[in-house]
Amino acid sequence: MHVEKSDEHGVISQRISSILKDVIGGADQERPIPLHEPYLGREEQIHLEECLKSGWVSSAGPFIETFEQEIGVFTGAPNVVATVNGTAALHLALVVAGAGEGDEVLVPSMTFVATVNAITYCGAVPHFIDSEPEHLGVDVEQLGVYLTDLLKPGPNGPENCRTGRRVAAIVVVHTLGHPVDLDGMSKLCEQFDLPLIEDAAEALGSTYHGAHVGTHGLIGTLSFNGNKIVTTGGGGALLIRDEDLAARARHLATTAKQPHAWEYFHDEVAFNYRMPSLNAALGVAQFTRLTKLVDAKRKLAQAYAEAFSKEDGIRFIKEPPNTSSNYWLNAIVLDTSDAGSIDQILGDLVDGGYLVRPLWRPSHQLPMFAQSPRMDLPVCEDLARRVISLPSSPGLAMDVVKAAKH
Ligand SMILES: *Cc1c(COP(=O)(O)O)cnc(C)c1O
Repeated sequence: MHVEKSDEHGVISQRISSILKDVIGGADQERPIPLHEPYLGREEQIHLEECLKSGWVSSAGPFIETFEQEIGVFTGAPNVVATVNGTAALHLALVVAGAGEGDEVLVPSMTFVATVNAITYCGAVPHFIDSEPEHLGVDVEQLGVYLTDLLKPGPNGPENCRTGRRVAAIVVVHTLGHPVDLDGMSKLCEQFDLPLIEDAAEALGSTYHGAHVGTHGLIGTLSFNGNKIVTTGGGGALLIRDEDLAARARHLATTAKQPHAWEYFHDEVAFNYRMPSLNAALGVAQFTRLTKLVDAKRKLAQAYAEAFSKEDGIRFIKEPPNTSSNYWLNAIVLDTSDAGSIDQILGDLVDGGYLVRPLWRPSHQLPMFAQSPRMDLPVCEDLARRVISLPSSPGLAMDVVKAAKH
């Protein structure tokens, strides 16, 4: 049968929407299925009430310490500093890693804008690197070739031969929860004397060779925004191995105030970035569910993977080998021939009540970063036209798991 070019996207949309119906159930405009909504219940209410009763709702109180300890236990990070959000955690991570005015920081163009904004907050310039096509991480080999050509050793670390600027760090992103090649990145960072920062905002519950992501580099950061696997309303955290570095991060997050019973003495210009107790209370409640939520999300991913494995020309993104992903957002990659129709396909699915999304607009295509230095970014630009993130709420995952048991 001859299919009009303008109708082809309709066929793909139909196929995707019928799989979504099979895996997560029917939707329509009156009952849309969100991309990712928080899972909240009685536990959260109890903890918030306890926090209110204690009177400690702001930037001090027992819930903050408890929450930081629980993050440490769950991730294996020796030091944890909870912050007001993930962006603040990234900013602080870059500051304590030494990124400052006039430096460059390497970062994937394909990330949420917060990663790149945090670099500019330090007065540094983002230098965009390409993504890896299978799992959305970093192609270490290709990056190695690029850096060999780009970098030369300088008095305070590697320098960009072309701009003369010091390159202060590299930030990698565990996109949609899938761990990047951390062994490869660690080796590369050692070779080029680059501090490694892991943006693990999307990857709480994901491991690489059995160890939690965010704990392999100099510093890792988390987010507890409302759309992440667990939420504190707004919040984030730094995971730091080195104790002195952690003490410095904590100090800078607390307006650089020297501890004293009454005196206000601040020893440098710093930030008010500590997480309030009210948010930490919510976090403690959410952490009682975390293992269960990760498990349910992995099972939902399995169901999606099986359903899409039978479809030609649509690839479900799976976790890389030797890793365990939290599958924060399940996602599919359209065939190259459908790349031009992604907006129509997204439109069809959203009209049908499935609130799907593309990846982000590549950072180098945003007006404020258009002049930033970068490598060729063909994979990043391709992914922007081919990846569709699917409904992945933890509550939805729990429902799918329950239905499968009956
Ligand atoms: C959510 C997110 C952040 C920032 O987190 P906020 O808590 O919203 O500030 C940073 N990087 C990535 C990749 C994210 O997905």
